[in-house]
Amino acid sequence: MAGTNADLSLDRKCSPKSPAMTQVANMARRLPPSDASIYKQIYAGIMEHYLPPGTKLTEDALAQVFKVSRTRVRTVLLRLAHENIAVLQKNRGAFVAKPSVKEARDVFAARRLLDPGMATHVAERISPEQVAALRRCIARERAAHRAGDHRAMIKLSADFHLELAAVLGNEALTGFLRELVSRTSLIIAVYERPGASSCRRDEHARLVDLLAKGEANAVKEAMRQHLQGIDDALMLVNLGTPKVNLRRVLRELSWRRPEYLYEWTERPVAKGRLD
Ligand SMILES: [Zn+2]
Repeated sequence: MAGTNADLSLDRKCSPKSPAMTQVANMARRLPPSDASIYKQIYAGIMEHYLPPGTKLTEDALAQVFKVSRTRVRTVLLRLAHENIAVLQKNRGAFVAKPSVKEARDVFAARRLLDPGMATHVAERISPEQVAALRRCIARERAAHRAGDHRAMIKLSADFHLELAAVLGNEALTGFLRELVSRTSLIIAVYERPGASSCRRDEHARLVDLLAKGEANAVKEAMRQHLQGIDDALMLVNLGTPKVNLRRVLRELSWRRPEYLYEWTERPVAKGRLD
């Protein structure tokens, strides 16, 4: 029943939660954070570029902020490293991954191979409900754009591509794409040209229009062009290391509503790693 699972994931992602669920989530926030919760906070900080590539993820600072042992912090850092979002350097500690120019080119080459073919399959099986859910995702992107919230736009653009993959209900594919999308976000953080826009919302809307009509060949070409547009917005040159106040950023993020933080990390595809 892959289609049913995909429907559920779309609804859970794009619909606001009930007040009761929000209350439960708020109560949960007052308990010591789980490893998954710590992971979400750090992951959100990285994906939305509060913690830019190259930032040192100091174990002591993380343990203090989350009020947990360094052993538990290490478990989370290991998971981030396993997903190529952080790197662990011997005798130096953990850092937010900073993709090299070659890695950036490799990730985009992989996405050019993967995403257009995936979109073709999505066009062949997407349901009207899934089309509607994708349109709701685009509406949220537009709202973030109107509000000038660049960080939300980065997150929602990534969400769009992951939700597209979720239509197929293929956990191996979703997991693979999730890693590539996360790495794409890091690449954009490092290499985006000033003033450039990585994912154009009108292009997402065009992709969904073509999917709704089942135009598999046209959507394949549109996706190829979309990825080329993101690639063109990059400036692939080597840059310096950022300076970030890790404690301050994480404390600010810890005030955010938990339901906002990357629900899709809870999907089965993320399990079996270090959960
Ligand atoms: Zn996009």
